[in-house]
Amino acid sequence: MNEADSEEMFLHLSARGAIRTDNLEEADAVLVNTCTVRDHAEHRALSFLGRLMKWKRQNPNRVIIFAGCAAQRLGNSLKKRYPFLNIVSGAKEIEHFADTLDKSGLFSPAQKPTAVASGFSAYATIMRGCNFNCTYCIVPSVRGPVKCLPTQDILQDVTRKAQAGAKEIMLLGQTVNAYQDGNTSFADLLNRVSEIPGIERVRFTSPHPIYFTPQFLQAVKDNPKIARHVHLPVQSGSTKVLREMKRGYTREVFLEKVQALQEHGFNISTDIIVGFPTETEQDFEQTLSLVAKAHFFAAYCFKYSPRQGTPAAQMQLLPQNVLEKRLDILLNQVRDLSEHAYQRQIGTTQEVLMEEPTKGRSSGNFWVQTSRAYPVGNMVRCEIDRAEGTLLFARNEHD
Ligand code: SAH
Ligand code: SF4
Repeated sequence: MNEADSEEMFLHLSARGAIRTDNLEEADAVLVNTCTVRDHAEHRALSFLGRLMKWKRQNPNRVIIFAGCAAQRLGNSLKKRYPFLNIVSGAKEIEHFADTLDKSGLFSPAQKPTAVASGFSAYATIMRGCNFNCTYCIVPSVRGPVKCLPTQDILQDVTRKAQAGAKEIMLLGQTVNAYQDGNTSFADLLNRVSEIPGIERVRFTSPHPIYFTPQFLQAVKDNPKIARHVHLPVQSGSTKVLREMKRGYTREVFLEKVQALQEHGFNISTDIIVGFPTETEQDFEQTLSLVAKAHFFAAYCFKYSPRQGTPAAQMQLLPQNVLEKRLDILLNQVRDLSEHAYQRQIGTTQEVLMEEPTKGRSSGNFWVQTSRAYPVGNMVRCEIDRAEGTLLFARNEHD
């Protein structure tokens, strides 16, 4: 989501004459888009500001824009602490970023229409904000309540991206499958996006388990353009911890949703938090057993990080060494399961969308290495010959 926001902000800068560079020394302005979901992310953004302070001292005309979720959380205190910042633009302000640039007087007025991101894979934000209140999570306070973008605007956005060369679209939202605009449900939107000329594959992230209904599965089951991958964050395998996190589902409900998705051919990955303040050894074991039952092919695992202002931040923290030990055990289990999941793909036929000359991703989101080079963006049909770690190798390819 942050990558999509960065892209959107950059396009407004480019309409005002900016050209992208990754070389700090030749840049006149830097856009720092920040995350605050865990403390570590915010720290990194602030320590980068320390580096930028020296960069700006070399030439006071240089411009620094500090944007995104950490900017939203820290707000006005930022300009006091870091007086050299030119623009602070929080995550809730992204829709008004063009005005923010114009009001700053630092950029020339927009000279050309805002361009469209190009590339074979593109993002499309369909929903901003979140209506949940998971007790550990800072997102609702920095991004605000849910706002679904109008279906027509999304279809227009995807059409422009497809005309600019996108073959794969990733639909984005914090509870993306709760999308609703009038009579248009998330499943309707997926199907309509997949019908746009040029679009060959539609992905989405992050869905919430409670919105995966039998109606959803029914509506998408015959549409092969909808990627057979769902990233479905579980956070914990213990019903007690899930209740304390206010996730809105039990361990059993989560496993039922996973099973229904798998029966429709979807591969599942997840996010897990270890060391939530009330997590006991037994709760953690429940997480390990859920991971084994759900057959995830990948999992992002995080140590719990207290976020100021969230209900969980009031609770007594577990010792860091407990968090580290649990994370280590979980990561080992995830690595093994992941390798098994890759092994299970051997002998299957896959459609691979090339992201590099000899490497691409299958519909189920597995990385596949081809035996010869293809143009990036081509769809290659192949059989899976063997797996090594988390990489599949193809044979009998044709595009
Ligand atoms: N909306 C998504 C998650 C968005 S945040 C959902 O509900 O599934 C992305 C991930 O960051 C979460 O899935 C969670 O695993 C992790 N996360 C969020 N807050 C956290 C915290 N306080 N400490 C550690 N990890 C956290
Ligand atoms: Fe955070 Fe929960 Fe909303 Fe996801 S659903 S963004 S974890 S509050």
